[in-house]
Amino acid sequence: MSETSASAPGSKRPDPVPRPIQGIVVGYDGSESSARACSMGIRIAGLLGAEIHLVHAGELRPEIVEPRTEEEIASVHDTVAAAMQLVKSYADRAGVRLRIVSRESAPAAAILAVQEETGADLILVGTRGLHAASKLFLGSVSSDVVARARVPVTIVP
Ligand code: ATP
Ligand code: MG
Repeated sequence: MSETSASAPGSKRPDPVPRPIQGIVVGYDGSESSARACSMGIRIAGLLGAEIHLVHAGELRPEIVEPRTEEEIASVHDTVAAAMQLVKSYADRAGVRLRIVSRESAPAAAILAVQEETGADLILVGTRGLHAASKLFLGSVSSDVVARARVPVTIVP
């Protein structure tokens, strides 16, 4: 086992010289808990000088949640896009670099793919998202991300 890979999944020892946290992936769906994940991301990134990759995956499930028409779906995406620009302006104000990433895929897959592509060190998602009505503690996206991520995941209530 090489020293630089010591903290990779499967290793038993911490890095002797941990490298700085450079990238943080935040999953955003327009929900309150994902907005709090954004705020926490900006706070952490501000302290560490890290860059945020703010990910929204465009897959909506109109069979489960309103809106149902194409037009209404487009308008939800516009709202999320506008909210992401607002988050970017907050990050700018805090002196934090933030990239907006929009993907046409399942949300957990998009979040995990962006983490792998960028080599980000940490993932932030909300406990629940837009379908928070059910009694489950975690939504399906946050559960899936926790189950499959190869880096630490912080779940924001
Ligand atoms: P459901 O499993 O029915 O969708 P939910 O909407 O309450 O339940 P999740 O979708 O798992 O819960 O949302 C949890 C977190 O996952 C959100 O706070 C957000 O951080 C992230 N997330 C969810 N959907 C997306 C998405 N489309 N794009 C990016 N991140 C998302
Ligand atoms: Mg959801």
